[in-house]
Amino acid sequence: MSEVELTVVVPMYNEQEVIPLFVERLRPLAQGWGVTYEILCVDDGSSDATPVLLQRLRREWDAVRVVRLRTNAGHQAAISAGLQRARGRYVVTIDADLQDPPEVIGEMLRTAREEHADVVYGVRSDRSSDTTFKRVTARAFYRSIRALSDVDARVDAGDFRLMSRATVDAVNALPEHNRVLRLVVPALGFPSASVEYRRAPRAAGESKYPLATMIRLSVDGVTGFSTAPLRFATWLGLLGGLAAVVVLVFALVSMLMGNTLPGWTSTVVIVAAVGAVQLLALGILGEYVGRTYTALQARPAYFVAHDSLDAAADAPPSA
Ligand code: UDP
Ligand code: MG
Repeated sequence: MSEVELTVVVPMYNEQEVIPLFVERLRPLAQGWGVTYEILCVDDGSSDATPVLLQRLRREWDAVRVVRLRTNAGHQAAISAGLQRARGRYVVTIDADLQDPPEVIGEMLRTAREEHADVVYGVRSDRSSDTTFKRVTARAFYRSIRALSDVDARVDAGDFRLMSRATVDAVNALPEHNRVLRLVVPALGFPSASVEYRRAPRAAGESKYPLATMIRLSVDGVTGFSTAPLRFATWLGLLGGLAAVVVLVFALVSMLMGNTLPGWTSTVVIVAAVGAVQLLALGILGEYVGRTYTALQARPAYFVAHDSLDAAADAPPSA
């Protein structure tokens, strides 16, 4: 497709304090990669000096490409924009704030080539720079994802990863919105490897991930990979039905023993039964909405790793 071997995708939202530090650290490393590369900076609708800094940077470093989004589309969408436009045979996505050490990029590339891996995850060996709150919520997030869906997402692997061209093409081919890449990429099932790194504190500026955005990401993650929450009402309804039977028996017995007010028995039984029926009906609706949703996501039902027929077609004709 092109001669670019490595694309480094860097989402940036109001990162004016960080950009000079990032470039200063990345540039000498890039010279040591020994491959043709492009640095694809995705300006996620920044409202500070980020676009100005990026234009200036582009003039003095010809490997730099700048894609500017018109609005702040969010971290995941900014990365997706970068993946759509990356030209490299390998693509690394990395945060601009130096929390992901750029030194690891070279190691990822080496690992991908040596281990023939399509995906190399950056795995955080040490999160001591994150707050306790962030660590606890992150763990809860991965736990619930694993419980609710069958995606084998690596704990402590964020969005610092390398992907092969085949992987990037597969991600780009998915039509869905609001995807959570750290779940989508493992779900594609490409051969993978990992590289450990220490997550550093943010080099400058402030986190662009307020709590509300973290919650949004978790909700997108769960709803993107599971319709279990929709089915919740079914179970509640079944439980409610059981409870209604118990209430019915209790109310009848009380009535026969003659220690109830007139009308109490029928009221209680009706309330319990109607509640159960409503929950069941909601659950059934949920089942169908879930199916509609899955159909709408239009994800392939399977991903073929290899077909020997294609391999035969590629082979040189035997004489
Ligand atoms: N980012 C972005 N769009 C957003 C929020 C963040 O492109 O709406 C970028 C940001 O510039 C940084 C990366 O995503 O390069 C990670 O964001 P941040 O460091 O603020 O998140 P945290 O590390 O605190 O989770
Ligand atoms: Mg950060």
